[in-house]
Amino acid sequence: MPFYATQEKKDEQNVQKYFGGTYLHYSLSNGSEIRDKRIAWLVSILYDLDCLLHHSYMPRIRTQAISKTFPDGTQALHSVNLEIHDGELLALVGPSGCGKTTLLRILAGLDKANDGKIFFDEREISGLSPDQRDLGMVFQNYALFPHLSVFKNILLGLEKSNLPKIDKQEQVQKVAHSLGLSDLLMRKPSEISGGQRQRVALARLLARNPSIHLLDEPLSNLDANLRLQMRKELAELHQKHQKTTLFVTHDQVEAMTLGQRICLLNHGSVEQMGTPQELYDSPKNLFVAEFFGMPSINLIHGSIELKSNEEQSIFNSSDANLSLPLPPEIQPVRQKVILGIRPESICLIEHSTENLFLIHRTEYLGDSQVCYLGADELGITCKKTSFDFNPADKVGVDFNWDHVHLFDPANGQRIQFNDS
Ligand code: ADP
Ligand code: MG
Repeated sequence: MPFYATQEKKDEQNVQKYFGGTYLHYSLSNGSEIRDKRIAWLVSILYDLDCLLHHSYMPRIRTQAISKTFPDGTQALHSVNLEIHDGELLALVGPSGCGKTTLLRILAGLDKANDGKIFFDEREISGLSPDQRDLGMVFQNYALFPHLSVFKNILLGLEKSNLPKIDKQEQVQKVAHSLGLSDLLMRKPSEISGGQRQRVALARLLARNPSIHLLDEPLSNLDANLRLQMRKELAELHQKHQKTTLFVTHDQVEAMTLGQRICLLNHGSVEQMGTPQELYDSPKNLFVAEFFGMPSINLIHGSIELKSNEEQSIFNSSDANLSLPLPPEIQPVRQKVILGIRPESICLIEHSTENLFLIHRTEYLGDSQVCYLGADELGITCKKTSFDFNPADKVGVDFNWDHVHLFDPANGQRIQFNDS
């Protein structure tokens, strides 16, 4: 039965849009009471058609070897290949100056690449003007007009639309209402808070509701609490509208929590793309490993050696008296390695006689505790939900080998051992 099969995904607003009347609205929000199955079936078909026409068309974005050098010789992007799936929220993250804004401006058509192509689905759009790309951008500084009211700032989003004036005004009211701005419409940007300004910039984008959303560090000017709240609101907005979205941030937590996938950029090149879990659990190189995680991953220089007279291989730290047997699935393929282990994957052992570390300091974080330890030249960080150790205690150290990463010190690349 088509109506019942698709009922969950309907929201009342969409159904009202087609049928306007109270009666059908009532009937649909009480689906089981519809007596005439033919009406239910028709409603279902029209609703799905609405989804197809108004919601489902979100292009896939693909860049092919985009490079950019500014006239002063600054090379901002080196052959960037990136794909944002249809309706996906991709977080583009990287340190300040790595080329995020440059890439966004090239996608928006505000800047030109020196090399490379951009495709929306299969169509190359590299030569199109910003107006022809059906995308909207929220800039880091919000780019609001200070002399215009909130209402007029949002209305600007519809400047190029052919809608009648009354419909445009209605659209502004609707979007302002959904973002909690209804009471602020007559104020100027200087008369509202940072978070509210950020919402006005978003409202301007949503009023037009283009099929691609490009957001350049929209939360970076907000204080911590507001950031958290806006992060949640952005995630909900994306869930509701499912627009193909590129969200730029330099904040690893924002990227991990908002991005369905993440693209990590460094010095204008893509280091790795994948789901937050892929980047956290299987970093391709030292840069990726160090970028994600708080506190940072422990990186221990050392070597893999074969224990004398035995088949067993061991890891020896070059900075401390730390010698740990490797599990059999990790075969030595190189002598020198950098061993990466996240703070939560270190085990502390009471009354141990080997691999001893001195506890320097502990931090209580409410839901967990962080412990800083040292032995000789090596300092490591461990994180647990709780432990009973105190500064100056001596404890043994072991690793959860399922979560150990080994890197080649020569080039920083991950060394693959089976599935590790
Ligand atoms: P991000 O947004 O990641 O902080 P940007 O894309 O703004 O980085 O900048 C990337 C690099 O390009 C930086 O080194 C920056 O100084 C440089 N850059 C950006 N815009 C220009 C410009 N118009 N002229 C010269 N260099 C620029
Ligand atoms: Mg930037």
